[in-house]
Amino acid sequence: MASTSTGYDTGLHRAGWIMQDPRTIIANGYVRVVSGQIREIGQWRQKAPPTGQEAVFDHGPGVLMPALVNAHTHLELSGFKGRLDCDQGFGSWVQTLLQLRAKSTVSDLAAAAERGLQEIVSTGTGTVCEISSLGLTDQLLRGSGLSGLWAREILGNLQNTPEATLPNWPGHVKPALAGHAPHSTDPALLAELKQVDETYQRPFSIHLSESDAEMEFINSGGGAWAGFLTERGIDFSNWGLPARSPVAYLEKLGVLNERTLAVHVLLADDRDLDVLQRRRVPVCVCPRSNQALHSRLPDIPAMLARRMSVCIGTDSLASTPSLDLFDEMAFIARQYPSLDPARILAMATANGAAALMQPACGKIERGFSARMIYVPATGSTPQKLMEMIVNRDFSQPCQPLFAGAETQTGEQDAGQATQTG
Ligand SMILES: [Zn+2]
Repeated sequence: MASTSTGYDTGLHRAGWIMQDPRTIIANGYVRVVSGQIREIGQWRQKAPPTGQEAVFDHGPGVLMPALVNAHTHLELSGFKGRLDCDQGFGSWVQTLLQLRAKSTVSDLAAAAERGLQEIVSTGTGTVCEISSLGLTDQLLRGSGLSGLWAREILGNLQNTPEATLPNWPGHVKPALAGHAPHSTDPALLAELKQVDETYQRPFSIHLSESDAEMEFINSGGGAWAGFLTERGIDFSNWGLPARSPVAYLEKLGVLNERTLAVHVLLADDRDLDVLQRRRVPVCVCPRSNQALHSRLPDIPAMLARRMSVCIGTDSLASTPSLDLFDEMAFIARQYPSLDPARILAMATANGAAALMQPACGKIERGFSARMIYVPATGSTPQKLMEMIVNRDFSQPCQPLFAGAETQTGEQDAGQATQTG
């Protein structure tokens, strides 16, 4: 069996297929990992039999691939799974969410977040962007074995301006600041949050063009959302409204660039997409959440036709039934049948890693972090393999192989750790 001190951290990983990225798939390959870093990738038959004490993990006939990247979630809302009626419309959903949250204890929310985290790791996600408005999940995420961002989400007016410094955390999870949305956060505050993220070279995440309420408020400076803000004592008279669209509003504010992650982008028209393309803004889509809350889907083909970088998030359990990115990919594959499976896989891996500024994640490449998963899908060609993965056409669960995953998923069976010759 594998050495228990390092788990999968050092050794040769062999599988029927190695998907370095969706365009580079090797049959019968291996990945050599030393201290959690990828050192070598090749075909098993070209490889001399291993010698000495190097552990060999023969995972089987399926595919070794990069761990998935969930570019937008809110673990803090995990306790509301199945408790909100998404059919009643977005405004009602927000109101009910706030009421439920006010009645919840911190320990209940934290316990649910921990269950959500276990689901994320056990279903093959290795990198996340957790958006936290209550500040309850930073320790949880930092101890998880995941990499990515923990973004403190700020909304309201300038009274809520956070410190202009971010803590220096060791490990693979880094802190950042996030704006909630154009219709909920003072524009001067959004600009300050963006500036802090720029200083630390962190992505600035913001919900954008998600709801009719947001669109109406930005377009008119009024509507139901204006009443909602007024009830909460938020004065928006200096917000520079109306504006043509939420995207145009953020462009004027100067916060759109390649380090801003636009989440949802559900109601964007051609002009909006042109702006996002020109500013090189990556987009994170959350289609299952969008379908549940807004009965609409983002125009992913139009984004890809513009060569925009699109990644995937699950959003929270308050608006989606699972935090499993394989479920999200299968939904996308069903709803967008013309999308090439390779594009969907890139959205769930390398594109997400790039959007979250995690340069050593999202691919199996020499020098990258060995943040890998084994998926027991066995297609006869790379194309069939990718179709099976995005359609979740495999019966056993995937197996996370990165450090820390074993503490979230229970003791893993360490593959077939043998000396082969
Ligand atoms: Zn969200």
